[in-house]
Amino acid sequence: MHDLFPSDKTTIRDKIKLIDPSLDFLLTGMNDHKEKMLDTGLFDNRIRRTLKDITQSNNTTEEKLSKVINDVYPYLQVRPLVESQVKTDPDFIVSPCVHLSSNIKFREQVAKAREMLLNTRILLETSSLKRYLETKDLMNIVAISKSVIQDRNFHALFDLLLCNKPDHVGIKIIGVRESDTVTQNKVFEFLRQFSEYAKHITNNRPPPLHLVNVDELGYASYCSGVCNIVSPIATSPSFAFPSKKHKTTINEEQDTSPTYYHPINMDHPKLNSLTMLPCACVECRKYVTASNIPHKAKPVFRRVHWLNTKNEEIREFRETPVQLNLALRDKFARSMRTQLVAYLPENPVFAL
Ligand SMILES: [Zn+2]
Repeated sequence: MHDLFPSDKTTIRDKIKLIDPSLDFLLTGMNDHKEKMLDTGLFDNRIRRTLKDITQSNNTTEEKLSKVINDVYPYLQVRPLVESQVKTDPDFIVSPCVHLSSNIKFREQVAKAREMLLNTRILLETSSLKRYLETKDLMNIVAISKSVIQDRNFHALFDLLLCNKPDHVGIKIIGVRESDTVTQNKVFEFLRQFSEYAKHITNNRPPPLHLVNVDELGYASYCSGVCNIVSPIATSPSFAFPSKKHKTTINEEQDTSPTYYHPINMDHPKLNSLTMLPCACVECRKYVTASNIPHKAKPVFRRVHWLNTKNEEIREFRETPVQLNLALRDKFARSMRTQLVAYLPENPVFAL
């Protein structure tokens, strides 16, 4: 980070370093993601073999999931995943945790997730890793598929998220799209109810709630008890993996040319579709037009511009004299993302 972003340029407050073990990538991700994770050497070798068998089989999704639960779960250990984090001196230790993706196997998935979250706490309190508890916060990041966010599961999810008394709770929602208003509203309702529940359970000292892997949609969550959002830099959050199957013809290539976060429209037009850069940040002022940016500099340019823009947007919301939800309503209404207004609740819940 230091080389890319000179210290006087970009500060979204203090930087926090955390490494999310993201077991959802291992258990249901694309093959190359799985391979990369297995190549870290942090997993039992038997897992590689089983996952390969599962990929090559013609089993149904449910059968595959059963095999993961029966044959992979027993070999998932939290210790190597925690040890690999502390070696890099992070600010938070993220508890490894399986993701929750199935209503049919919900109980089994929650049981394993709970076991891993509790084991991390026990490990940090009783082993040689104990010394890290004094300087590092414990964070849960639980990945949850949209299909599982249902009223009947709310309580089990709330209990799970708090089961090991974490210092921070992170929620990563898998598979939900901004345009899916019904599901998205359910997610925000879930966040608000969790926030109230956590207050109640912790005597009004709830752990800060982070929403992981969202873009501007995350701004709306500031009104649903979320105090921090985690976004990928200058790419769309991986709500769903793009599949080659989804290409309509064999010859159709995906347009992978760089995008540009438009600070007024709040959308991501292609950088090469712009002539003048519509932003007053240091980077944009330096180049003035998109064609002035050397090809090699584009990846860094768009990331620094993105950070500058986000820094300014978040500062605007935080420092506005009007209530946050009204400031957001105004910002969304002026953008091409007016649909986000629908996600601002009538009775906002603010975490701070
Ligand atoms: Zn800019």
